[in-house]
Amino acid sequence: MLTKVARLLRYGFDIVQGFFIRLFTKGPNSARIFLWVRALNLTISQLNKTGRSKRVECPCCSWKGYDFLADDTVKFWLPQVFCPSCGSHERSRMLHLYLGRHDARLGETEGTLLHFAAEDDLRKLIRANDRLNYFSTDIDPIAIKYRCAPGTGFMSDIQTLGVKTNSVDIIFCLHVLEHVRHDRDAIRELSRALKPGGIAYIMVPFDMTLKETEEWKIPDPDIHYHIWAYATPDFKYRLDCFDYQEIKPDTFLTEEERRRFRIPPKEIIYRCVKQVEVEEKTESSLEMSKA
Ligand SMILES: [Zn+2]
Repeated sequence: MLTKVARLLRYGFDIVQGFFIRLFTKGPNSARIFLWVRALNLTISQLNKTGRSKRVECPCCSWKGYDFLADDTVKFWLPQVFCPSCGSHERSRMLHLYLGRHDARLGETEGTLLHFAAEDDLRKLIRANDRLNYFSTDIDPIAIKYRCAPGTGFMSDIQTLGVKTNSVDIIFCLHVLEHVRHDRDAIRELSRALKPGGIAYIMVPFDMTLKETEEWKIPDPDIHYHIWAYATPDFKYRLDCFDYQEIKPDTFLTEEERRRFRIPPKEIIYRCVKQVEVEEKTESSLEMSKA
């Protein structure tokens, strides 16, 4: 009982302290967001514990409950983002569902997979296939230390990727490009590293109110240090070096599923296949005709 009271007091103190820090460093609007998200998440956590209404489900860990937790970016807040059980984001939940239903290759292939800024919930899915050679990379050595499985992580800058040309079968690059100043160079590096016919799954956060992508001169610390605010109408033109497919939630999930898994329309998967060189196509066609 005393431990519970002490924990509650500590929690209350942390919230009051956090509120005033936010108030003096970021202003009243951000402080209000801080308080609102903590109050909302506390309420959702209590409702999840009651187990009365299991209206949402996480495909990454099979958790079911009342709702997902909200995210506080400092500048604004987003509802129904994190799974309270495994911490999965909307993007991981969507990719998890898509791969499970429409891309059996991941579960069967024997190739090499490179995972940027490794999400833990996706890593579990990938490592279920022990025939895959799994590697993860990040520009931040601390992230490599704490987020990569031992022996699988290495440090690299995605703009000048230290990976051999035509050496990777599958790439996962989720919510990375928005942090990269020369994002087109990064995309070219992903293409270079892939084997012909290899696939890169790329996702970025979209601002659905924008008609055109915006670049910020200084990374915004109040929105996770983003440099780019991507717009859906023009982002895809950055992927011209691939044969890409734009996969929106409503193309493979029913309305009920989108509600149950909490996948908003802004989550879009770009399934990017590295084009086979023209010479290679010609050679293989010749071989086939000889056979
Ligand atoms: Zn989960």
